Amino acid sequence: MKLHRIASAASALALFTASACTTPVTATDRATLVAAPSLESRASAMLAELGVAPASAEVFATRCDSAISLVNDMIGTLETRTSPASAADLVYLDTLTAVGVSIGSGEASIVSETNPDPAIRKSGEECIRKFSDVFSNISLSRPIYDRLVSIDPAGLSESEATVLKRNLRDYRRSGVDKDEATRNKVRALNTELSEISLEFNRNLREIQGSIKLESAAELEGLPQDYIDAHPPGEDGKITITTDTPDMGPIFSYSPNESLRKRLMEVSANRAWPENEAPLRRLLEKRYELAQTLGYPNWAAYITEDKMTGSPEAAAAFLSKVEAAGREAARIEYSRLLEKQKQMNPAATSVGEWSSRYLSEQIRVSDYALNAQEVRQYFAYNNVRSGIFSMMEDLFEIEIRDWADAPIWHESVTAHEMYKDGALVGRFFLDMHPREGKFQHAAAFPIRVGPTREGVPVASLICNFPAGDHTTGLMEHREVETFLHEFGHLIHMMVSGNPEFASLHMGGLEWDFIEAPSQMLENWVWDYDTLATFATNAKGETIPRELVGKMNAARKFGTGVNTLRQLVLAGVSLNYYNRPPAEVDFGAIWEERAAALSPFERLADTHSYASFGHLDGYSAIYYTYQWSLAISTDLFTEFQKNGLRDKETALRYRDLVLSKGSNKPAAELVRDFLGRDWSPQAYEQKLIDAAKSQ
Ligand SMILES: [Zn+2]
Repeated sequence: MKLHRIASAASALALFTASACTTPVTATDRATLVAAPSLESRASAMLAELGVAPASAEVFATRCDSAISLVNDMIGTLETRTSPASAADLVYLDTLTAVGVSIGSGEASIVSETNPDPAIRKSGEECIRKFSDVFSNISLSRPIYDRLVSIDPAGLSESEATVLKRNLRDYRRSGVDKDEATRNKVRALNTELSEISLEFNRNLREIQGSIKLESAAELEGLPQDYIDAHPPGEDGKITITTDTPDMGPIFSYSPNESLRKRLMEVSANRAWPENEAPLRRLLEKRYELAQTLGYPNWAAYITEDKMTGSPEAAAAFLSKVEAAGREAARIEYSRLLEKQKQMNPAATSVGEWSSRYLSEQIRVSDYALNAQEVRQYFAYNNVRSGIFSMMEDLFEIEIRDWADAPIWHESVTAHEMYKDGALVGRFFLDMHPREGKFQHAAAFPIRVGPTREGVPVASLICNFPAGDHTTGLMEHREVETFLHEFGHLIHMMVSGNPEFASLHMGGLEWDFIEAPSQMLENWVWDYDTLATFATNAKGETIPRELVGKMNAARKFGTGVNTLRQLVLAGVSLNYYNRPPAEVDFGAIWEERAAALSPFERLADTHSYASFGHLDGYSAIYYTYQWSLAISTDLFTEFQKNGLRDKETALRYRDLVLSKGSNKPAAELVRDFLGRDWSPQAYEQKLIDAAKSQ
């Protein structure tokens, strides 16, 4: 599962309509700022400093409090302006929102999700909580809304008009035009929702499941470096946790079915019962909020400003994908069952806990592909430099070290990105697991869009093995994840508008945002690309024949994996498209799984408790399939012209990535493809996956 945190900024931006001012500061302006320190100059100073690695919880709390007081002062100033409203108000709103989003969401998320010190992490959480009220105040400010409404659109530039239109839409969606009692209710609900969300995510981060093994004999079949990394503890037993690097290899390689089943049981019950009540309250409060704002349910509210526009359109799309993917899933399941029967002639079904293991076995027997053989070519250090080079070549950028960057842990690295010789962005890589850290893979924005205070700043937060061929061997799918997250990062770095940073990529429809990253995943299946960095400990390049086998095997699993995604998308939609009183978590999950998954399921498990997207994505987990369909269509252009075709890559960079959210996503895609996008290429791919097996 790939989770990425640009989502939180996207929702932040949708809710708070972030728009950082990017008007160039002239020499006269600078002189004025120095002569009379204003709220704007305080904002500039705050944005110019990066608070991602505070020395103590107190330091971060103080920074957060001064950001809050600054933003509140700026809100007050804007609310009491009496001069005729103009584009200058948009710029001012941009600046104050940029401070809020950068500190209260960007920095606070990095601090709360990654800092090694639990007290500092808590100060990050506290800041997010405090800022949720500030954002609520901005989005419900009637005086600011009234000013924006009175701006004459006739005199605005195209960018200003886009920003104004989006601000007004988001203001209306936030309930600003409702009466005061309703606005107060919305405010209270937002506060409660922020609290619940923090609790839900804290549980996900801090509650770890684990099982104990009696001896290393139970790890038979696992790679030697995995066995070496799991020595017995003081009690003589080996602990396997539910953290991804621990769990993944067991599901892929362990021939021990009861071990896989035991681990899946623990994993499917992680954060349960702790997250049962917070999830219930999330549904209830979101439903109440949607109803208060005049929508039938939360799903209707959250899809309104997406590409789909409604939960019905999303559901109809999912049905089409289901129709295209069913045949491949049927064939794959029968192949898995056949493999299972070879091992256990009495078997009549395949358990969920065996799906990955049997798939690996089929890759070995039917495609002569051994994942461990593949793995030796992907040491973290090589992969990182390989991905850097690939991005540099493809998009004509340059990545350099960022000296003296404020890092929060010794394993974090810091880099700068240049385009045409000019600095365009800075980023951190926090790529390896440690206690108390965010457990998935995600791209976190810290500063959005180019502003007058500097370039965008972001961080990848992942959980990959670290080092060279001795300690850092990655699964090929992890390499794919790395590139995927890097796709978000490069989108954050190169997108922007000299006038308004709010027109950066975070302002795009959320159900498009995965598409560029999903499209990039294709490059780790390309021999010429892999040959540039995939080498083993002896320095030998990955054989062309091996990559050929990887590609032959790639289609296997497409059907069952797609249906698995449809289960999650259906659960997400169905939890939120009805009154919460009608939602039985287990029953809805079971209904979707029974309709779509051919696998035998574990009884009495509670996977929803650790399905983090139910908070961050709420009803719209479908976006992964939707944007995958777009990415498949985008990729047809590269298939036609070649993966390293400079002209295509730069056209894509300039027409799609660099445009940020200056245009609706559908138009960006049309500009690149020369026609409207269609899910047809994706449906065909699913149909072909069945034919190829
Ligand atoms: Zn992603």
